[in-house]
Amino acid sequence: MPLKSTQNLLDYDREHIWHPYTSMRNPLPVYAVESASGVTIKLADGRELIDAMSSWWAAIHGYNHPVLNQAIEQQLQSMSHIMFGGLTHRPAVELAKILIDITAEPLQHVFFADSGSVSVEVAIKMAVQYAYALGNRNKQKLLTVCGGYHGDTLGGMSVCDPVNGMHTMFSDILPQQIFAPQPECNDDGSTNIDELEVLLNKHQDEICAVIIEPVVQGAGGMHFYCAQYLQQLRVLCDQYNVLLILDEIATGFGRTGTLFAYEQAGIVPDILCLGKALTGGYMTLAATLSSKKVVDGINADGSGVLMHGPTFMANPLACAVANASIELLLSSCWQNKVAQLEQQLYKELKPCRSLPAVKEVRVKGAIGVVELYRPVNMAVLQAAFVKQGVWIRPFNRLVYIMPPYIIQPDELSRLTSAIYKVLSQSRGCNSS
Ligand SMILES: *Cc1c(COP(=O)(O)O)cnc(C)c1O
Repeated sequence: MPLKSTQNLLDYDREHIWHPYTSMRNPLPVYAVESASGVTIKLADGRELIDAMSSWWAAIHGYNHPVLNQAIEQQLQSMSHIMFGGLTHRPAVELAKILIDITAEPLQHVFFADSGSVSVEVAIKMAVQYAYALGNRNKQKLLTVCGGYHGDTLGGMSVCDPVNGMHTMFSDILPQQIFAPQPECNDDGSTNIDELEVLLNKHQDEICAVIIEPVVQGAGGMHFYCAQYLQQLRVLCDQYNVLLILDEIATGFGRTGTLFAYEQAGIVPDILCLGKALTGGYMTLAATLSSKKVVDGINADGSGVLMHGPTFMANPLACAVANASIELLLSSCWQNKVAQLEQQLYKELKPCRSLPAVKEVRVKGAIGVVELYRPVNMAVLQAAFVKQGVWIRPFNRLVYIMPPYIIQPDELSRLTSAIYKVLSQSRGCNSS
């Protein structure tokens, strides 16, 4: 079939290409994109949509940014890729330095991975290897909390929410990890951390690390929880001699109001995973940072070799654009901007509370969530949002947005009013 018209493309796509979390035989419709610039996504049929998703947390500066384009174009002149085994290069070293400089002081070592899921695999392997090298060979399990999301590879899947996670059918082949209840905080500052401590106490001889998304749990359900929980968790990890892995792949680079969400708790992880917005949404790249303590532990049996090395590790184009993106972020007034987005999201999403389909509205930093009582009918809601000229992709019972930080107030208002309008028009629910 010649791929001349957009319809040809869509037809071929529908027959042959998997999309995320989608059936091959009966996929929901996809929309063909022609280009994207700033916060505008231009569809092949000429329609323009305001982007609410930042391509899943990544495109914090919007699309087609001249500074980021230039960083890639310039790097392309010297090399697009070179193997990282036995070789190194300026973009990777500069990126390592900037990541070490902007994260907590104890984090001094960087492993570059090619996607967020892989950076989580690396974090898990570091923790297991740490315990192993120190002679604690039974400590091979992870403790995590319900409602989490840590990626789609086997190790990451094993610590995703065991029930609501997208991976229940694989549970028999996954490593069996230990799950504490989802973090909950009361108004008086108390939390349900004691339930986690019971498990930590009971299984302390088997657990090498706790892994958790700080402050905001993303794809597992967009749940927010308080910094106190993390402070208590840090104390417990030290007390029971397990490492603390923070997965900031979604929350990193300003999204929750601080550069990294762990800053809100004033704690430091032993291992930190970064991804998504790391390259400003330009290319796939992730990083696993670790402290000297972790490196020393892995070295304790004399080898110190970390058994991992992706082909496209520290890809120079990706590192170059990551450097440019971080510089752009740090030189902008991102803190004010995210605070403004938070205020506007709160003010403009609050009226959704009165809609019958809506269970709760919550806002944290540049993240707005409208939780419904029942799962949305994706096909209907997606089409309704496109009709309103916005790109909002709901999942399950959640209509949520995390727009590029550069979005203007009137553009953000178009997103929030589209949510109100679509949720008040449609029942927004499956009839089943
Ligand atoms: C997206 C995400 C991942 C996985 O990253 P990929 O780049 O999609 O592999 C892991 N953890 C969290 C918290 C994420 O949001």
